[in-house]
Amino acid sequence: MSTNKNEEHNHNHSADFNQLLKSNGLKITKPRLRVLEVISDKKTAIKQPELEKVFGSEIDRVTLYRILASFEEKGILHKIFDLHGTATYAICSTKCSADHHHDQHVHFICSICNSVYCLDEISVPKINIPSNFSLHSIAINAVGICDSCQDSQT
Ligand SMILES: [Zn+2]
Ligand SMILES: [Zn+2]
Ligand SMILES: [Zn+2]
Repeated sequence: MSTNKNEEHNHNHSADFNQLLKSNGLKITKPRLRVLEVISDKKTAIKQPELEKVFGSEIDRVTLYRILASFEEKGILHKIFDLHGTATYAICSTKCSADHHHDQHVHFICSICNSVYCLDEISVPKINIPSNFSLHSIAINAVGICDSCQDSQT
C-alpha cells in the first residue's frame, strides 16, 4: 500500500528538516533532527517504545518525550493510538501548523502486526455533533490485515 504520505517521506532529507525546525521556531538540535530522520524513514507510524529502543542512550526518555510533545504541538507529527493504546507517531502533512492539525484521515491498524498506516487519501466523514459541544478532532481507525501480513499469509 503506497500512500501519499510515504511518497512525501522519500523527499525528506536533512536540509528540509533544518528548514522545518526553523520555520516552527524550534532550535536545530541533533536529537530533534534524529527523531525526524527516524520517523520519516518508516513506512508506518512509529511507536513510542520503538523510538525509545532505537535511541537507547543517545536520547534519554524525558528529552524524547519533550521532543515528541513539541513536534505534536507544532504540527510536525500527529499521534495515533494503536490497538493496545500505545502512542504512535507519524509525520504530518505540510498543511499542519501549530495548534492546527489537518490529519483528518483514516488510520489503518493491522490486527496481526499492529502497524499503524496513514491513509491520507481517505478523509474522515463530517459528523453532526450536538451544537453545545465543540469538536476538535475525529479519529477513525480501520482495523484489519495490512498488505504485508496478507502477503505472508498466502
Ligand atoms: Zn498534523
Ligand atoms: Zn500487518
Ligand atoms: Zn496519519
